[in-house]
Amino acid sequence: MGAVETTTLQDWISRFGAAIAEKREWLTELDSAIGDADHGANMARGMTAVSEKLGAGAPTGIDDLLKTVGMTLVSSVGGASGPLYGTFFLRMGMSAGAVASLDGPALAAALRAGLEGIVARGKPEARDKTMFDAMAPAVDALDETLASGASVAEGARAAADAAAAGRDATLPLVARKGRASYLGERSAGHLDPGAASTAILFETLADAIAG
Ligand code: ADP
Ligand code: MG
Ligand code: MG
Repeated sequence: MGAVETTTLQDWISRFGAAIAEKREWLTELDSAIGDADHGANMARGMTAVSEKLGAGAPTGIDDLLKTVGMTLVSSVGGASGPLYGTFFLRMGMSAGAVASLDGPALAAALRAGLEGIVARGKPEARDKTMFDAMAPAVDALDETLASGASVAEGARAAADAAAAGRDATLPLVARKGRASYLGERSAGHLDPGAASTAILFETLADAIAG
């Protein structure tokens, strides 16, 4: 019960792209405070390229879908976020494999593999004020919720809530990774833009799974 199909994940990617387009200015505003004011533009450019690529033909399975998303982000986004999100989707696809559906534990394992890809690439640690601070609690919350016997939909909702809380918790932090770290103490008092886009990633996943 509650398997996540290829079409559910396609819906996720399309919802994520739409939400990024809608929140583009906000993401850019966040990045203008502690970065170089391009996070909204970077993510919107990447997700527009993803939507064009996916429009060209139906994916053969979950790995094909996620690898296409990952490769497109890596090749179309110049900033730090392109390789990081690209690696997330590539690793998630490799973990999922050539299947047409994932049960809760397989989805959780795939998301964790994606998170580990980000860690391998960017070396973020907890409280460095990066996308990791939204993603790690989200993946943990999914594991914990599933372990308590909840459905994958309930798990994805708990993950979205944890990602939003993780995003909010970046506000007082002093950045230790990425461009924001150049500001030192002046990076405190602002949300991390990548944590904000990651909260959108998990919110749209929960919405797609809820249907
Ligand atoms: P750039 O900083 O190159 O302009 P973006 O503005 O698109 O790229 O993305 C910035 C976001 O990338 C940050 O808000 C942060 O969440 C994330 N980020 C930057 N460096 C790292 C890193 N080493 N590890 C994890 N996330 C990082
Ligand atoms: Mg930037
Ligand atoms: Mg930049």
